Amino acid sequence: AEFTALDNQADDGAGEEEAELSQPVLAVVGRPNVGKSTLVNRILGRREAVVQDTPGVTRDRVAYDAQWAGRRFTLVDTGGWEPSATGLQASVAAQAELAMKTADAVLVVVDASVGATATDEAVAKVLRRSKRPVLLAANKVDDERLMSDVASLWSLGLGEPYPVSALHGRSSGDLLDAIVNALPEAPREGAVVAGPRRVALVGKPNVGKSSLLNKLTGEQRSVVDSVAGTTVDPVDSLVELDGQVWRFVDTAGLRKRVHTASGAEYYASLRTKAAIDSSEVVIVLLDASEPLSEQDLRVLTSVVESGRACVLALNKWDLVDEDRRYQLEKELDRGLVRVTWAERVNISALTGRAVRKLAPSLRTALSSWDQRVPTGQLNSWLSELIAATPPPVRGGKQPKVLFATQAGIRPPTLVLFTTGFLEAGYRRFIERKFRERFGFEGSPVRINVRVRE
Ligand code: GDP
Ligand code: GDP
Repeated sequence: AEFTALDNQADDGAGEEEAELSQPVLAVVGRPNVGKSTLVNRILGRREAVVQDTPGVTRDRVAYDAQWAGRRFTLVDTGGWEPSATGLQASVAAQAELAMKTADAVLVVVDASVGATATDEAVAKVLRRSKRPVLLAANKVDDERLMSDVASLWSLGLGEPYPVSALHGRSSGDLLDAIVNALPEAPREGAVVAGPRRVALVGKPNVGKSSLLNKLTGEQRSVVDSVAGTTVDPVDSLVELDGQVWRFVDTAGLRKRVHTASGAEYYASLRTKAAIDSSEVVIVLLDASEPLSEQDLRVLTSVVESGRACVLALNKWDLVDEDRRYQLEKELDRGLVRVTWAERVNISALTGRAVRKLAPSLRTALSSWDQRVPTGQLNSWLSELIAATPPPVRGGKQPKVLFATQAGIRPPTLVLFTTGFLEAGYRRFIERKFRERFGFEGSPVRINVRVRE
């Protein structure tokens, strides 16, 4: 494989599977003026128009979400790349080289009214070595008379030339059919689970989980009957909170008190993991009256690794006085660096203080977890960011970020396609800026890097 998911964020358990979730990538190459941008616009329809270029200015967007016959893919316009090679022929060939290593399929565009030029030949020579599918678009075939010129493009050795007129939209349907046939199928994103959203309530023993659950369910066990057509797993509880019904998963264990048995802690941690795995959003209860403990950090690690959305509930707030409050702030800033994105709610399961406030935080966290930034918007933001603060040079080389896509949701996962390794510090910088721009409060964001070998 040309690609390895070399560089997953080791610290949050993002794995190769996430990268596999990417929409397939189609890169468009060809020399200037053959009609690449026009064709890209044609393929995108009105969905995400390509920004018009000013000569001499790098395009601010290079990748877009495209769709044909119900198949989604990422369309990359290599015209926005700045290859290091100089001279037109060398630089277009270098673009083709990168495209071949980066994309799942390559679309090469030639101008049929001109025929194959030396630059087209150079590009074809590169692409003939491609292990990925290559499609050949013969553009500017505005009428039948040019069909004989199209046939001559077989000489490029890239298979059948597809005649199109990007300007008039002629025959682009046939080309698009060929494109989606050539691209690998995008794996389906996790099926949406219907019904109430699934919440796990976790935290170390004695933090107040069963007290909170009792407060939340109160006398309203009847809500179970009021949700039409819902079969409730007896280990879960349906809870109405702030006008919405939530499914608290695996709560049966919380109602039983088995803290004394030997090995209880081990079983508690297994139970915690199982609850997190079957949830979409996790409420992590912390005891505000005590310092953060090792056990708290272990629970938080499980949550971060799971990729679930998260709300931090600081319980026993009724015991917190002015002095403790100040101390707590410092402890939390130090202890919660890996979940700075999670909202904090100060509650008391005993008095019921602010318990309702958990609902808006849960909603925010889930909507972040479900959020997707369109590829065009993402790249427009990213190219600006990288122009202002390029990745640090490593071993004398400046890694380039070619483009990015948000490969998945639940959790939101970005894939950066680069020509070199990106340091953890730089990835964190990207994540921080990404959150400043797009939000994602309450949800983890994973950043995977695909380095071409
Ligand atoms: P790029 O540099 O490869 O991105 O090319 P552009 O998309 O900017 O197009 C270059 C020129 O060719 C523009 O003036 C377009 O209007 C024109 N053009 C693009 N597609 C067609 C086509 O199918 N037929 C004709 N006649 N002109 C086209
Ligand atoms: P669990 O082990 O996490 O389920 O914790 P419990 O709900 O059993 O609570 C452990 C102890 O903490 C009990 O004595 C509760 O009464 C007490 N507790 C729970 N929540 C609060 C709170 O908000 N304030 C105070 N002061 N005590 C609480």
